[in-house]
Amino acid sequence: MKKEILVDVTRKRNRVALCENKEVVELHIEKTNNKSVVGNIYVGRVENVIEGIKAAFIDIGLDKNAFLYSGDMCEGEKFSDLKKGEEILVQVIKEPSGEKGVRVTTNISIQSRYCVLFPFSKGISVSRKIRSSEERNRLERLFKENISENIGVIVRTSSDGEDENIICEDIICAKQRLNNVIEKGRFSKAPLLIESEEPLAYRVIRDMMQTDIERIIVNDKQVYKSLVDFMKNHSSYNAEIVFDDESKLWYEYDVSDAEKHILDRKVMLKSGAYIVIDRTEALTCIDVNSGGFDDKKTDKNMIVAVNVEAAREIAKQVRLRNISGIIIIDFIDMKSDYDKNEVIRELRESLKKDKIESDVLGITKLGLVEMTRKKTSPPISEIIGEDCKKCNGSGNMFSDEYTAFKISDELRKRFCNENINEYMISVPHNIFTILKNDSDILPENSGKTVYLKECTAEYSINPIIQQNVDLSDTIKIEL
Ligand SMILES: [Zn+2]
Repeated sequence: MKKEILVDVTRKRNRVALCENKEVVELHIEKTNNKSVVGNIYVGRVENVIEGIKAAFIDIGLDKNAFLYSGDMCEGEKFSDLKKGEEILVQVIKEPSGEKGVRVTTNISIQSRYCVLFPFSKGISVSRKIRSSEERNRLERLFKENISENIGVIVRTSSDGEDENIICEDIICAKQRLNNVIEKGRFSKAPLLIESEEPLAYRVIRDMMQTDIERIIVNDKQVYKSLVDFMKNHSSYNAEIVFDDESKLWYEYDVSDAEKHILDRKVMLKSGAYIVIDRTEALTCIDVNSGGFDDKKTDKNMIVAVNVEAAREIAKQVRLRNISGIIIIDFIDMKSDYDKNEVIRELRESLKKDKIESDVLGITKLGLVEMTRKKTSPPISEIIGEDCKKCNGSGNMFSDEYTAFKISDELRKRFCNENINEYMISVPHNIFTILKNDSDILPENSGKTVYLKECTAEYSINPIIQQNVDLSDTIKIEL
């Protein structure tokens, strides 16, 4: 299987696609905020210390002074020790908002793929998400051996089960960056930026790097350069880095086409069957539908074949759409345990390609397959989608007939309250047809007259007071 990463960087958006045999299997989309300074490390100068709110203003060379709360200082540092004019190393933890400048901490850190290093604190803590005590011990030992004890370490969840050599290469790089910051911090004059976050696209690629990726095709010079450096420091990886200004492969592999269908509820299978994916707040439901054939009469082998095909597609879609949390799958009913197991086995097998951990728990009494998938980042639907404005995301709208009844209700109310005998009702085509064919929907015995007119906008009801209203193209209904 040929694995490649395609990268499309533009000023407003980064997209990174992981392709297997030219097919998009993972897609990461991030809007870029060019001005983001979170994560940047500066040498700053203390401008003002305000005892009352336990905060200091630090000049780091931005338009507004940065904010340092006493609570954001390293353990052991005393707020009362801060002196005006003093130079300190700070890292931005929050964007500026309103009148406020950025918020900074003195507990600076360097984040890499497998760990976060803190030069001014101590101790190793392994991510709580790594459960196995054997694995926790292995990682703790590995980091202890490779990082001096006066540096604090958080071992990230991504280390779980990873090869020692790959982790060590990552540690070496993180330490180099850390030394660089300390060195620059010591010899630079405030205010000065000494370390900025790596390009967003680069971080996404670094975190999805695998040893079997053959090529990375990038359309951005800066990301290209970062990746070339990365490959120099990480001999475990062999990917060829290709600069492609015109994103030719992006179009050749048709990533945009994969993107176009990524929010579809219904996904067709080759057999003519289909799956329907529905997300709710608590879980995602996936329904397998036979499409034309009658599952009661169809040969059971065919039903198993469709379910197996669906299982493969579900694994693919879950990964592509980055659906996480609880997932409930309703396969087409199968009687035999042997068949059920075969479908579950196929689902588990197909999910193995996915780097993000998932767990297929089995079949419930009602025949539903339960699975979970670890949440690492928001699903793609949250990044590129929004609730439908017509139905407010419910997937349901009031029917035209219901709207016709609503118009009738409103008329009845107005007939009681207003001393007017004629009304013009403008309605969209579908409602016009309903009211024209079945005027019994409208209130009876009122002695009023309505003129029905077709319009393209939403419906409106207007009393006719003047005589010169244009009544052409209307239908007159005496009630
Ligand atoms: Zn809708």
